[in-house]
Amino acid sequence: MGNRVALITGASVGIGEQFARQLAARGYDVVLVARDAARLEALAKEIETGGTSAAVLPADLTDASQLATVEARARTVDVLVNNAGFGTFGPFHTLDVDVELREINLNVMALVRLTHAAAAGMVERGSGGILNVSSLAGFQPGPANATYGATKAFVTSFTEAVHEELRGTGVRVTALCPGFTHTEFQERANVPASDVPGFMWQEAPEVARAGLDGLDKNKAIVIPGAVNKVMGNLSVITPHAITRRVGAAVLKRASS
Ligand code: NAP
Repeated sequence: MGNRVALITGASVGIGEQFARQLAARGYDVVLVARDAARLEALAKEIETGGTSAAVLPADLTDASQLATVEARARTVDVLVNNAGFGTFGPFHTLDVDVELREINLNVMALVRLTHAAAAGMVERGSGGILNVSSLAGFQPGPANATYGATKAFVTSFTEAVHEELRGTGVRVTALCPGFTHTEFQERANVPASDVPGFMWQEAPEVARAGLDGLDKNKAIVIPGAVNKVMGNLSVITPHAITRRVGAAVLKRASS
């Protein structure tokens, strides 16, 4: 029998690259998805030396026909990691609305389509795992982060619901909600993160490991790191009238 297969989106760098390395180390053949084919090829070469196969499937998941190709591949995998995502920063009315919509397409639409494609086959086979990468940003409204926070609120809620629907089917479904993690994310999102204190940051390998361990245990939600757990739990119990004002104050400070 061959190795089990894991498909990881956003595998070219950051947390997704770590998912790919760690799943390969756990004995999975991996299918690597992102736009940057050269980066995927280089990673695949490294992973393949470890005794598992790595296939490269370059795709822009905001493009309907490229997404359809990935969906077709997702139908037969044992593990799907919906990790690809990006953020935007600034008052919503000042941002390019086309980019905001692309963010919804990637963070929400692609994730929903791929979850649907993978879940159907997994339920039929009575086994599998789906790990959806959300964010602490999904626990409260985020001024200066309005679209991003809303996409991640969707991802967490959607994933928790599907987790419950698939209880008892043999299919594990987990939402991973990281906080600040050193990757290319902040730079791509133009987030002024230099003021964020060091204790609030995590590294991509530990975040990916927490997600995979949580998926193994079929946890509905995983918040990696002690500081993030406190922040996440505070966000859940604090009224939005307070958390959104705190967010707005942070925006004012960052923009001044
Ligand atoms: P990253 O370093 O910027 O990596 C993002 C990945 O997504 C890259 O592999 C990128 O590859 C891929 N991607 C972007 N647009 C894509 C598209 N249109 N089609 C296909 N792939 C695309 O960021 P990261 O921090 O690892 O982010 C991974 C996930 O963690 C995201 O869902 C993010 O929202 C979440 N997260 C990150 C943080 C953080 O602080 N870093 C915190 C909470 C949650 P290409 O450019 O090659 O396509």
